[in-house]
Amino acid sequence: MQRPGLRPMRALPVLEPRRSSLEKCVFCPKLCRTACPVSNAEPRETITPWGKMSVAWMAAHGDVPLDRSHAAPAWACTGCFACRELCDHRNPVADVLLDARAAFTARGVAPEGARRVLERFARHDGETRTLARGLVSRAAGAVGIAGDVKARAALLVGCGYLRRAPAEAMHAIEAATAIEGRHVSAPGSLARPPGRSAGAWSKQDRPVALVDACCGLPLRLAGDVDGFRAHARSVVRALEASGVERVLVADAGCALALRRRYPDAGVDLPADDAARPFVEPLVEAAARWLASRRAPPESSVPLSGERVRPDLGEAHADDADEADRRAGEAVFWHDPCALGRGLGVFDAPRLVLARLLGRPPNEFPSSREDAVCSGAGGLLPSTMPDVARAIARARLDEACSGGATQIVTGCASGLFALRRAAASAPPPSTPGHGWGARGERPRSPRTEIVVSDVVSWIARLTRTH
Ligand code: SF4
Ligand code: SF4
Repeated sequence: MQRPGLRPMRALPVLEPRRSSLEKCVFCPKLCRTACPVSNAEPRETITPWGKMSVAWMAAHGDVPLDRSHAAPAWACTGCFACRELCDHRNPVADVLLDARAAFTARGVAPEGARRVLERFARHDGETRTLARGLVSRAAGAVGIAGDVKARAALLVGCGYLRRAPAEAMHAIEAATAIEGRHVSAPGSLARPPGRSAGAWSKQDRPVALVDACCGLPLRLAGDVDGFRAHARSVVRALEASGVERVLVADAGCALALRRRYPDAGVDLPADDAARPFVEPLVEAAARWLASRRAPPESSVPLSGERVRPDLGEAHADDADEADRRAGEAVFWHDPCALGRGLGVFDAPRLVLARLLGRPPNEFPSSREDAVCSGAGGLLPSTMPDVARAIARARLDEACSGGATQIVTGCASGLFALRRAAASAPPPSTPGHGWGARGERPRSPRTEIVVSDVVSWIARLTRTH
């Protein structure tokens, strides 16, 4: 029986399958409003989870004009899944808003930032491929491009690392290569196995092939669901043609795209085998690798308080000594939303860090399922850059208030956002918190807190274990 008063979604009928989720929010007393990093950074009712869903619901019914101002709230979301955790219905707001974006984009009312992403995607993908191929040459022949070489496993580094964090991209290759069975002869080196000439690579020797494409997630986030589906199909076709048994994914956002957004768009990945999923976040593969190895001699495990020197990337190479001193102090793990709430991977990065630190990493006041977003997801830096920066700054301040000297994360966009916040932010002025608590005047904000990526820690782990 039809519900009394049910009105068709005549303006955006494509949102009809999302009616139940939309109406849960529309008729909710906003029980998750404190969870949203976007409306916390810019307090407006319209961009609370309730507001975003309500505007989409009204637009779908034709109650408000289909224009840019009513489309914009759908892009005021980082896709962090925090509202879902506070919702008794576990309402998938982030997923519904992606469908709302697609509906608005199809009607030509996407915000400027999203339209720019769509216009530039072809060039972005081409540049990503060029950068991946450049990385292959820097890796001195130890890896190849999927399709060009036979390999057991592929590595999707992610366009974020390739474009903005090339040192971390190399660390991801080093880590994946070691995990998949290659011998790495020296720290940072991807040399050929002993006794083999350059032309003598076998499948065993060359277990990792790079995926040279962008995963296509920017298309989905900007609202081009058909373009995303077509791109995802091309990525999967290339993987199938390359014959790899699995794909390791360095970037949490890309891992979520392959594991969840591809199937949601009707693009199936090759089947998982009994023991391992076909798509595996690199940090999960590292934890699996670690668990499969015998514990190293006690003397080789850094104990609590001992110094460790994680690789910090080119931008922070100058901070290495500082990091060396601080790594044994307060190293905070920031759960990337896509990895934690998105894929349910909470323990693997903690295991990796604990093995190197000789103790568990420090926890933010809000962590695991309750972790606060860094503001870098969902295209927010393109559509609401000031708000995205404010969210990153708030997360940095949270770390400082807990006494952090180093933050480790696991997605390129979060890494970049937190690094930028650390580099540009003055020290918190709240008495009793962060830098002010120690009464220190920082030599420079950048040297006060180090932001590194778990791929660098994994690379180090594979050198020493
Ligand atoms: S996500 Fe859940 S708690 Fe939040 S507004 Fe919607 S129905 Fe309410
Ligand atoms: S997914 Fe995150 S950013 Fe999006 S509405 Fe929910 S809490 Fe806000």
